Amino acid sequence: MKIIMYSVLAEEKPYIEAWAQKNGHEVTQVTDDLTPETVELAQGYDGIDMQQTIPTKDPVIYQKLASYGIKQITARMVGFEMLDLKLATQYGLTVTNIPAYSPRAIAELGLTQAMRLIRQLGYFDQRMDNGDFTWNGMISREIHDLTVGVIGAGHIGGATAQIYTALGAHVIATDPVKNVELAPYLEYVDLDTLLTTADIVTIHTPLTDETDSLINAQTLKKMKSTAYFINMARGGLVDTQALIAALQQHEIAGAALDTLADENLFFEHKVTPEQIPADYKTLKAMPNVLVTPHSAFFTNTAIKNIVEIGLNDVVTIVSGNKSPNALN
Ligand code: NAD
Repeated sequence: MKIIMYSVLAEEKPYIEAWAQKNGHEVTQVTDDLTPETVELAQGYDGIDMQQTIPTKDPVIYQKLASYGIKQITARMVGFEMLDLKLATQYGLTVTNIPAYSPRAIAELGLTQAMRLIRQLGYFDQRMDNGDFTWNGMISREIHDLTVGVIGAGHIGGATAQIYTALGAHVIATDPVKNVELAPYLEYVDLDTLLTTADIVTIHTPLTDETDSLINAQTLKKMKSTAYFINMARGGLVDTQALIAALQQHEIAGAALDTLADENLFFEHKVTPEQIPADYKTLKAMPNVLVTPHSAFFTNTAIKNIVEIGLNDVVTIVSGNKSPNALN
């Protein structure tokens, strides 16, 4: 079988090569994203495997893939909102994602950032850069004394709950789906209770019409002024301007963001200072805000699983079998 993989990262190569050798398939790796301009690279292949956050909704992509006899698109990532499932179905393309490749990878960065915020490390750094080695006003709290609110207790939110519980924190969660397996690690509450009670609010929902800007001026106002907000999920879950206002007005104590609504303009790329959006610069300048470039997933365990699960799905679908990861 001949498979083309788009947007290949250097760190994926050894796992791709090992998989190809073990399974006896030919895998061509390209660094391009899948666009109307690059779709032609897929001609002559049996299967396609891609990962990107830029929109991939141009009908030309689906129409051309179908015309090449391709039957699937494997998105080797959790989120698939950049794809158009209706168009994929219309052109006979089965889309798969990877619902869980390493929830711990994302949960652990969320925890890392929450701990940095709690310990006021950004403020300490700012002081020390100015020759100020004092502690006054910078007293911290300890994680086991805190209540952590998980919005969306799925794979990543569930892993997040388990880690905080292991550290002795009290974990509350809101999710329309109640998972009995998480009972030892969290207590389900409604969103208002979570927002008004939690010392750390950490969001792990998908980005949908319902969750778009779920964190907005109203929901931020409900949070404690001492609470921290963590977003390791999708930038669109947050009204960025409302978040900036809440931080500037000290309505919340700080935030850690691995994703921003307009990140496609600059994340995963090298850009000039002029190309960086103003909201990013405003947030990055705040000592109580931590920004990372959508890198929460980027661990060796996650990359290995992403490569292997994705390529196995390509083979499954191209061979005419059903994958539990099929989305349409
Ligand atoms: P998941 O589907 O396993 O869990 C999502 C949970 O959110 C589900 O339990 C669902 O019932 C719940 N949910 C849906 N709507 C909700 C609402 N309105 N209120 C409360 N809960 C709601 O997904 P996951 O694998 O845990 O991924 C979570 C998020 O993390 C996604 O947005 C995904 O795109 C993102 N993600 C980010 C990175 C990264 O590198 N930063 C990597 C992987 C995934």
